[in-house]
Amino acid sequence: MTGAHAAPRSAGRPGGRELAELSGPAAAELGPEAIVVLPVGSIEHHGPHLPLATDLLMADLMSARVVAAAVGAGLDVWRLPALAYTKSDEHDWAPGTVWIDADTLLATLRRIGLSVAATGARRLVFYNGHGGNVALLQVALRELRRLAGLQTFLLNVGVPAGPTELGFGIHGGQGETSLLLHLRPELVDLSLAAPAVPEHLADFERIGFGGAPVQFGWLSDDFGSGGVIGDPTGASAEEGARIAADLVDEGVASLAEIARFDPRPPAAGEGGAA
Ligand SMILES: [Zn+2]
Repeated sequence: MTGAHAAPRSAGRPGGRELAELSGPAAAELGPEAIVVLPVGSIEHHGPHLPLATDLLMADLMSARVVAAAVGAGLDVWRLPALAYTKSDEHDWAPGTVWIDADTLLATLRRIGLSVAATGARRLVFYNGHGGNVALLQVALRELRRLAGLQTFLLNVGVPAGPTELGFGIHGGQGETSLLLHLRPELVDLSLAAPAVPEHLADFERIGFGGAPVQFGWLSDDFGSGGVIGDPTGASAEEGARIAADLVDEGVASLAEIARFDPRPPAAGEGGAA
């Protein structure tokens, strides 16, 4: 993308887009059109067949692919090192889960955003791999809009539910397992995968996960399923490759909109025509 600023580059890698590989002065010279992506993962129980780092791996590895493709499409995008420890209180019961309190995470996001605002960049995107972070990331979007003046965005690593999951494939199910079989197959043991779909919840029309009209507080051992919510048994590396390709396409298209997004009326926008 053309701009008034000379394009900084990560040291050591032509075209590299790792923000932390820049020097301080180079980061200060990022242009206002630059988009900074913070991958947000988690370290939490994902059943016996998946690694604790599942959400971190998805956010970290997919954000790298998305940023590379976006740069190839002419966008000025930079990636921060991934945030590994986040809000996993729903899996606190499960050994191996390593998490931080919600207020600690909000303070961390606030400080990271204020640090990004000290560079020349004016757009910050959370690229999030963990559903349990969504509500808090939405709070951080508004805090950083107000406190740092940044344009802030949340882009979730969305994986599709499988046909046997009744819409409940939200944790350790077919989508996540397929994507991990594609990204890091040596960390997946499909022989330990078992279906764990909370079918009794399908009786409720209003109460549910995600976009349901009535939300409820839940812990991942509430469902008697060993912490998995979904059916990973139909997962495959081939489906994972398709999901990854879709995530790259979706990610690049989203970053292209983010690059030109301005909520203000055109006449009031920076550089807007009179
Ligand atoms: Zn997950």
